[in-house]
Amino acid sequence: MSKRDYYEILGVSKGASEAEIKKAYRKMAIKYHPDKNPDDKTAEEKFKEAAEAYEVLSNPEKKQRYDQFGHAGMGGAAGGGFGGDGMNMDDIFSQFGDIFGGGFSGGGFGGGFGGGGRGRRVRKGSNLRVRVKLTLEDIVKGVEKKIKVNKLVNAEGVTTKTCSQCQGSGQVTRIANTILGQMQTSSPCPSCGGDGKTIDKKPAGADADGLIKKEELITIDIPAGVEDGMQLSVTGKGNAGPKDGIPGDLIVLVEEIPHDTIKRDGVNLLYDLYLNFVDATLGTSVEIATIGGKVKIKIDPGTQSGKVLRLKGKGIPNIQGYGTGDFLIYVNVWTPQQVSKEEKAALEKLKKSENFKPNPTSKDKGFFDRMKDYFN
Ligand SMILES: [Zn+2]
Repeated sequence: MSKRDYYEILGVSKGASEAEIKKAYRKMAIKYHPDKNPDDKTAEEKFKEAAEAYEVLSNPEKKQRYDQFGHAGMGGAAGGGFGGDGMNMDDIFSQFGDIFGGGFSGGGFGGGFGGGGRGRRVRKGSNLRVRVKLTLEDIVKGVEKKIKVNKLVNAEGVTTKTCSQCQGSGQVTRIANTILGQMQTSSPCPSCGGDGKTIDKKPAGADADGLIKKEELITIDIPAGVEDGMQLSVTGKGNAGPKDGIPGDLIVLVEEIPHDTIKRDGVNLLYDLYLNFVDATLGTSVEIATIGGKVKIKIDPGTQSGKVLRLKGKGIPNIQGYGTGDFLIYVNVWTPQQVSKEEKAALEKLKKSENFKPNPTSKDKGFFDRMKDYFN
């Protein structure tokens, strides 16, 4: 069903002032108020519709987003109190204090409305944080990690009973006199915190919520491509929710263990290959230990220091699934740091040859050109 324009619902123009919007809503709220229109579904819908429109247009941030993006901009976090079915009655009445000058919030409209309002809350456990250390191998392939955690669980033998202050409703109500007659206001029960239950019996060692620390082995699936400092959230693996609540989440902080010979640069892996001057001149074949295993690489005769060889797709998978990086091999020609008398004589003799005179062509890019290529 397509939603009506919020300005149209309240019958105001787009340029309406805050006071005009408030006044228009006040008029609608009184006209369609459930107390004045018992068992009138259309009035109830109009009442809810107006409340939702006011909720957005009275909030400068939401109003701006609505003006810019329309209803499409109001999804998710922007929604505040309302999901697909619009606002529930409790949200609407809690908004009234602002409009009618106090004493005008709360539910109290019996069974017929909004599925009975807010009612009991289910408690959610707190989040648990752990740190995992991963090797480059783990990151390239993805890994299943088993970690011992010390988490809060519901202690054995804990029993709950219905809260005596709110009789299990999770709310306490009071009566207030307003311009529309008597209204009830409600707020979460201070005794049970809104979940309608209190702890009856708990074993020694359990905290006030009946929770106790326990060591547990948790299996975490780490996807390929994670990075140092990244946080993964595993739903429902955190601390237990007290009083039959739902558990919190497990937040996994990723830490990378540096590799001995391979460095990481985003999704690419970098490797320094050192060749002696003879192999670089005559060509050779070398074996390189990549993450996936050993790979044989052919080195062409006349390979210059600084050349980069690319093993396509042998890097790290992109965590969002957009391909895989490369394994880049940087060729470094190793210059001997000391030579024997005989070696020196042989080298002196070689030096005289025309072949040993540096003669770079445009194909042999120098350092600065290569850097330029790399960053482009
Ligand atoms: Zn209570």
